[in-house]
Amino acid sequence: MTTIPINTQVLSIALDVPLYQTFSYIHDVPLAHGQRVLVEFRHKKVVGFVWNEDKTILPDKLSLKPILEVYPEIIPDDIISLIKFCADYYHYPLGGVIFNAIPKILKQAKLVNLKNTRSVVASSCRQIYDKQLNYEQKIIFDDICQHFTHFFPAIIYGITGSGKTELYLQLITEVLKQDKQVLVLVPEINLTPQMLERFNTKFKDKMIAILTSHATPRARYLGYQSSGNGSANIIIGTRLSVFTPFKSLGLIIVDEEHDQSFKQNDNLRYHARDLAIWRASQIGIPIILGSATPSLESLYNYKQGRYHLYKLNKRAVTNAILPKIELVDLNFYQANKGLTQIVVDALKLRLERKELSMIFINRRGYSPVLSCNECGWVSQCKQCSTTMVYHLVNTHLKCHHCSYTVAIPKKCPTCKSQNLQALGDGTQKVETIIGELFPYSKIERIDQDTTSTKSAWQDLYTKIHNHEIDILIGTQMLAKGHDFHNLTLVVGLNIDSGLYSYDFRASELLFTQLTQVAGRSGRGDKKGQVLLQTKYPGHELYQYLVAHDFSGFINYLMTQRKSLFLPPYTHYAMLRASGKNILQVIDYLQSVVLLMQKITIPGITIYPAVPSVIRRLKNKERAQVLIQSVERRQLHMLFDRLIPLLKQMKPKYAITFSIDIDPYEI
Ligand code: ADP
Ligand code: ZN
Ligand code: ZN
Repeated sequence: MTTIPINTQVLSIALDVPLYQTFSYIHDVPLAHGQRVLVEFRHKKVVGFVWNEDKTILPDKLSLKPILEVYPEIIPDDIISLIKFCADYYHYPLGGVIFNAIPKILKQAKLVNLKNTRSVVASSCRQIYDKQLNYEQKIIFDDICQHFTHFFPAIIYGITGSGKTELYLQLITEVLKQDKQVLVLVPEINLTPQMLERFNTKFKDKMIAILTSHATPRARYLGYQSSGNGSANIIIGTRLSVFTPFKSLGLIIVDEEHDQSFKQNDNLRYHARDLAIWRASQIGIPIILGSATPSLESLYNYKQGRYHLYKLNKRAVTNAILPKIELVDLNFYQANKGLTQIVVDALKLRLERKELSMIFINRRGYSPVLSCNECGWVSQCKQCSTTMVYHLVNTHLKCHHCSYTVAIPKKCPTCKSQNLQALGDGTQKVETIIGELFPYSKIERIDQDTTSTKSAWQDLYTKIHNHEIDILIGTQMLAKGHDFHNLTLVVGLNIDSGLYSYDFRASELLFTQLTQVAGRSGRGDKKGQVLLQTKYPGHELYQYLVAHDFSGFINYLMTQRKSLFLPPYTHYAMLRASGKNILQVIDYLQSVVLLMQKITIPGITIYPAVPSVIRRLKNKERAQVLIQSVERRQLHMLFDRLIPLLKQMKPKYAITFSIDIDPYEI
């Protein structure tokens, strides 16, 4: 008979498995909450984290396996609380939350070795900093400074170029003076070299850690560590950085807070802005949500009296004013190869004046679909229920959902006809057309295909600075935080698709994108012009846009959402499931629906299971169930009761199941 020492500890360990439970292991001494360990699970050695709180099972010590190794790392307390909140709020398995939140290096079943790691601190200074806040900025600055010692959520709603970033820099300076740290959350594509340079120049003698997808796992971990021990003063990063530990955090800034990239759309479906708000409330510090087009959610919170709102109404650079936005009615003006004469003339004028123009078309590739004129065949993806996009560069068809790529067929795969046609316009096609129209102009295309390298943006800035570009053509990547002083014309093509969409957020997104792209022009002392080609010039959205009336548009949207019982007036959750066969997937979801119907909670509406809009993705069939709740509390009650029941209800087939709270993919 085996005997074990009397003081043997039973520890709950969180593992990276999709189960709502922890696992018990034994060890001879107690371990800290959040300690990284190595254990055996299903005949594999895996990393786990001590989670002492879960004491639901009192197992027989004899049957338990020992902890194999104890690593030195411990998840810091502030991140432990955040993880706990996240697991509760998103109803996601605890182990899964931990493994989504921690740096990659800590997931590896070995000791962390940080030798030969280059520092994450960026540095390069070109200009001297000497800017004074203007009157509008100063009033906001003074007011926020009064609130450094408590939770203070504030929206800074400032038109493009009104000096929001400048204001952040001054607020950060104040916080650093108090020996506190600052977290700046930015959408990935917003972290332009220009923005970084402004930070580096302003805070020359401070340690800034940059945590984006370009950072190597080691650099990311180093940033995580130096923030946790207080040596990094400023952390600038994308949504994952909301899980960075801090020694003494004094301020959070969420730049472009409306940006949908703050919401993760797979695994743990968290919203970094919302988690940031929670963190600020826990620590008791201000959080700034900056945007030229704040999200409806945040403005709703302001209307409810939960957030503060500051406005910056003028452009900061003297003489710089908002551009004139004009609609080009496609019912009236004929387009040749997608361009009206008005647009062609406007481009010609900028070329003569040696000014920069920008053409916005939110679709990369050459054409969204290749089709056969004889039998109607379309370039369907083998793995998804979407069409493959025709790409001119390297001539291939590519699925933008799963990256599946094939050579362009010379004949129709169905009827062998050679009468194939690329339908619709993407950035590459516009690039070709503009190249034919203005053969001597210098054209640059900006989309996901051209900006994947680390130096892509820097190269672009150098080119623009050296006047080596006349016309920029690109997707919404162009809409982001850039500041090109010589840009005087913005053209929007194919913009109407966002007007009539199944997704209730599509019109908000369209308005935001168009405001942002339009805002790129006229930032210097030259006046900007914006031309938008549309078939629906009478649409309310465009009328508000032309009038630069964001508040009017928001009121219009809020009225619409209220009358249709849409968020933020109600709360949504989406159950998602995927598997091999759509009927099996729907069948499983339907049985979950039945379970939920038995849990009677008032104010909840459960819709039937339906196939997702993109029904087939990466060879998986997908379906979803929408749940609507008048109050958030009731939604959480429903899931708290549902999850224990799910355990007993194993699907008969291999089915992946997830819960999405506050979903963005509808
Ligand atoms: P936003 O973040 O709102 O787009 P920025 O902070 O980037 O605005 O400011 C837009 C432009 O105005 C930048 O070129 C910036 O350097 C300049 N700027 C901002 N604030 C001031 C100020 N107080 N004095 C002079 N120039 C300013
Ligand atoms: Zn055919
Ligand atoms: Zn695909």
